[in-house]
Amino acid sequence: MTSNEIKALYKDNIMQTYARFDVVIDHGQGARVYSPEGKEYIDFTSGIGVNSLGYGNVKWAEAIYQQALKLQHMSNLFYTEPGAALARELTARSGMAAVFYANSGAESNEGAIKLARKYSFDKYGQGRSKIVTLVQSFHGRTITTLAATGQDNFHTYFFPFTQGFAHARANDMESLKSVADSETCAVMLELVQGEGGVLPLAPEYVKQVEAFCKEKDLVFIVDEVQTGVGRTGALFAYQQYDVSPDVVTFAKGIAGGLPMGGILANEKCAGVLTAGTHAATFGGNPVTCAAALAVLSQLTPALIADVAGKGARIKKTITGWNSPRVKEVRGLGLMLGVSIQGAAPKEIAAKCIDSGLLMLTAGADAIRMLPPLTITDEEIDAGLAILEKVLEDAK
Ligand SMILES: *Cc1c(COP(=O)(O)O)cnc(C)c1O
Repeated sequence: MTSNEIKALYKDNIMQTYARFDVVIDHGQGARVYSPEGKEYIDFTSGIGVNSLGYGNVKWAEAIYQQALKLQHMSNLFYTEPGAALARELTARSGMAAVFYANSGAESNEGAIKLARKYSFDKYGQGRSKIVTLVQSFHGRTITTLAATGQDNFHTYFFPFTQGFAHARANDMESLKSVADSETCAVMLELVQGEGGVLPLAPEYVKQVEAFCKEKDLVFIVDEVQTGVGRTGALFAYQQYDVSPDVVTFAKGIAGGLPMGGILANEKCAGVLTAGTHAATFGGNPVTCAAALAVLSQLTPALIADVAGKGARIKKTITGWNSPRVKEVRGLGLMLGVSIQGAAPKEIAAKCIDSGLLMLTAGADAIRMLPPLTITDEEIDAGLAILEKVLEDAK
């Protein structure tokens, strides 16, 4: 099909829930993707941080193919090898005690919320169910994770939302202390707020939150759906922040493009969700687990160190342009935001895309880059050349 045929079918047959860019993508190689007509794009988005290994990764595709031929799915009432091997890898490299497999970020966060409430119920009985999240956070699109999300524009239409969420200002301990009361059971936060604008939390603040949670026996949940799996220059961002959360959720990049999420829990929380209290039909599917194993086996410590180096180089290059359009470059590793002044971020992103560079936006003021973790220096330079020109032309 041509791009126009594909777009027409979308218009006629698919709910119009996305403000899509006017581009059809057909295939990719490395960090480059192509339209059906062969127009080339450097990809600084990787499907919002999903395609960790870029496109055309043969080891990843082989792992999926071989597992699909062997056994594509089995109910969680039985055991399968890929789930076992992946769990060993995840617990060893995270230092956490156990994992629960889910299918998406929102679902993983829902599970973490259930876990926190049950932890508190088991220990203290009813009445301790409030979860504090941060202003400008994003935790998902289900009714409960929308309630968790600390942005008012998400709290419309779908009333009634799930009860029991309060929002504190980021990097402000007083704000957290003023909303965390005797009914609170958990604090949930992103270490770098992604959708909210690529806003890294201050390390001292995160340490203080950890200590506060310990003191009050609150479950400390870190939502690493976007930051996790090598994105920030560590396997998980909490390792860089040098904190030990009780519960960590992940999703986007874990299976390199197949839908997967999960919840990691430490010793304190690993036994909370017991048989019959939580489940997911597709969770731990052998094909997605095989894909995730192929991702993790390629995300070696050396490659993850490279992610940090590449991110630092991109930051330095953009800062070095001294562009009047660039207010600030922020983020960690290959999760970067450029706050834009004197032009609309959405327009800058659209112009990048027109010029052959896939680009995202975040929050109200920023364009956002989440390239494949395997992006080469040559691909980075090709992408940055396009961005530099777009910023120059944005008068
Ligand atoms: C994307 C994202 C989610 C939601 O993930 P889905 O897979 O779309 O449900 C939740 N939390 C964070 C931090 C995210 O970036």
